[in-house]
Amino acid sequence: MSILFASSEIFPYAKSGGLADVSQALPEALRNSERVYTIMPLYDLIDREKYNLVYSGLTFDYWLAGIQHQFDIFHREDMPDDLFVYNPILCNRQGLYNDQHGDFGDNGLRFGLFSYAVLEVMIRMELDIQTIHVNDWQSALVPLLAKTRYHLPQKIVLTIHNLAYQGIFAKSVMNELEIDWEKCFKFEGLEYYDKVNYLKAGIFFADQITTVSHSYANEIQTPIFGYGLNETLQVNSHKLTGILNGISYEVFDPKSDQDLYKNFTARTFKNGKLSNKSALLAEVGLSDEGKPLFVFIGRFTKQKGLDLILESLSLFKDFEANVVILGSGEDYYTHRFAALANRYDNIRIIIGYDEALSRKLYAGADFLLMPSIFEPCGLNQMIAMRYGTLPIVAKTGGLRDTVTDFTDIGELENHGGVGITFEEHNMFWFMHAISKALSLYGNREKFNEIVKHDMQVDNSWKHSAALYRELYQQH
Ligand code: ADP
Repeated sequence: MSILFASSEIFPYAKSGGLADVSQALPEALRNSERVYTIMPLYDLIDREKYNLVYSGLTFDYWLAGIQHQFDIFHREDMPDDLFVYNPILCNRQGLYNDQHGDFGDNGLRFGLFSYAVLEVMIRMELDIQTIHVNDWQSALVPLLAKTRYHLPQKIVLTIHNLAYQGIFAKSVMNELEIDWEKCFKFEGLEYYDKVNYLKAGIFFADQITTVSHSYANEIQTPIFGYGLNETLQVNSHKLTGILNGISYEVFDPKSDQDLYKNFTARTFKNGKLSNKSALLAEVGLSDEGKPLFVFIGRFTKQKGLDLILESLSLFKDFEANVVILGSGEDYYTHRFAALANRYDNIRIIIGYDEALSRKLYAGADFLLMPSIFEPCGLNQMIAMRYGTLPIVAKTGGLRDTVTDFTDIGELENHGGVGITFEEHNMFWFMHAISKALSLYGNREKFNEIVKHDMQVDNSWKHSAALYRELYQQH
C-alpha cells in the first residue's frame, strides 16, 4: 500500500509542537511495511543544505480566481519520498503560522494553496496512492477538494491533533480558492457561523477521522472540550476513532541522544541521570543535585496549565527542590514568566525554543510538570518516561491514558506509564500531587524502581502504527 502523508510541520525540518514529532515518527514506523510519501511546505526557515533538500524537477502553475500560483517541488536527496512544496505565499516568511505580531492574516489562502499542492503533486508525479492522510486544519481542505473538485477515489484519513486550532477564516477565502459555494458552504461542510472552518470541512469530507487518544476522542464530543465542534463530531462519530500517539524510539533515546551530557540506559540510569543533572544545574546556575529537580517544557499557552505553574512558583521557592521552566509562546505568559526569571534562587526560567536544552532537561530532571487543562495526547510525558523522569500530570485526554498514579497500582510490571496524577484542575490538587512527588523522592528505592519501570514502558509507535495500517485498509 502507498500512503501520502501531508502535514504542515515535520521534525526535524520544521517544528512548532507535537504535530511535527508525530509527522516524522508515524511515517517512519509505517515505512517498515508500506511506501509512505510525506509532503510539507518548504518554509524559508528550513535549512535546505543541512537536510539535502534539492529541486525535484517539477514546477507547475495553478490558476485560482484569475491569479497564477507557482509551485516548485523539492525532495530530500537521500530520501526522495520526503516531498516539499515551495510557493512564495505559503513559504516566504519567518514563521510557520505566526510571528511576533500574531497569526498571519493570509493563513486561509496559504494552507488552501498547500492543500491544492498536495493533490496536484500526487497527480502530476503519478504517485500510486491508496490512502491520503492529512493532519489538522492546515491540510484539512484536502478531503473537501478531493471530493468536490477532483473527484478522487483515494481513501482520506484526517487526524485531529488539537481541536483548539481549527483554521477559521472570513468566507471570502472561498472565492480566492474557488471552493464550490453550493457543495461546501453548509453545515455538512465548512460553513461555521458565516465564516469558514477548515477543520470542520475535514471532519465532514474525510472518510475516517482519528484523534490522538481514546479519552480525547470521547472528550471532544462534549461541549467543554468540543470547542464549538462537539455537535459536528457527534454527527460524524461513526468515522471517529482514538489512536494513541507514540514517540520515535530512535529520535528520543537516552542511550544515543547527542544532546545529553552523558548517555544512559535503564541499567545505568542512576549514575547517568545524576551526571546529567549536575551538569544541567551548573549550566543554568542552580546547585544541589540532592534536591529533586522539577521541570516544565512546553508552549506558553493556557492549555498547558501555566496558571497553575505560575502560581506554584511562589510555593516552590520554599521547597527543598529546584525548578527549571523552558518554553515560549503567548506574550501574556512570556511577560509573566520573564518577570519571575531571576526572582528565586532555586528556580530558573528560560524563555525560548531549544530542542537540545529540552533533551538535557528530560535527562537531568526527576519530575516533569504537566498540569494541562486539556491534552489531546501529549508527548512530553512519554519522552520524560523514556529519559527516566516521572510525569506529574492532570488526568485529562492522553495524559489520562498514558500515566497511572503510583498509589493506584499494585504490581508495577502490570502497568504502562506510572507517575503522579491529579483529577481536579486547581492549586489544591496540583500542590497535593507535588507533595506526593516530594515524599516519593524521599523514598529513593521506590522512586528508582518506578523510574526504571517507566524507562522500559513501550510508548513507541509499534502498536499504534499497526492500528493506522488497519484503518487505511478498512473499506
Ligand atoms: P503540543 O503539540 O501541544 O505543543 P506535545 O506534548 O504533543 O504538545 O509536544 C510537544 C513537543 O514540543 C515535545 O517534543 C516537546 O519536547 C517540544 N517542545 C515544546 N516546547 C519546547 C521548547 N520551548 N523547547 C524545546 N522543545 C519544546
